[in-house]
Amino acid sequence: MQIAENMAVSIHYTLTNDDNEIIDSSIDSEPLVYLHGNGNIISGLEEALHGKAAGEKFTVRIAAEHAYGEFMEEAVQVISRDMFEGVDEIEVGMQFQADVSSGPGVITVTHIEGDDITIDGNHPLAGVPLTFAVEIVEVRPATPEEISHGHIHGHGCDHH
Ligand code: ZN
Repeated sequence: MQIAENMAVSIHYTLTNDDNEIIDSSIDSEPLVYLHGNGNIISGLEEALHGKAAGEKFTVRIAAEHAYGEFMEEAVQVISRDMFEGVDEIEVGMQFQADVSSGPGVITVTHIEGDDITIDGNHPLAGVPLTFAVEIVEVRPATPEEISHGHIHGHGCDHH
């Protein structure tokens, strides 16, 4: 069965950067299951999987713009410590949810100088080309309910 729109696809993957450092991998856990054609995974990977079948293995390098996007300078801002009302201690590396230009996202504190706090709304992998080594484990048609929800049901989904 080939991967097409509205198929439930299970893959094992290992994600590396250009320095061959492993960023993420499913190998020691459950395969990733996603609904194909719905933007559940990054666009470059979804495109590479299209038309392939269970049992196939491949490696694909995806440019940043088709992964987590280019690094945007304008997403880096210096704000005043006053903006962190109710936060006792601000540290480099702290992350919090906020609305960024592309919608809700994660902001990371990257630098602190006195009362000037530098925050970065880029995804931690923005600007990073990603290489995925993929093995397609299973391909099945999604259920009508999964298609209407836009995601796959199974492990960890409690609204059947
Ligand atoms: Zn659902």
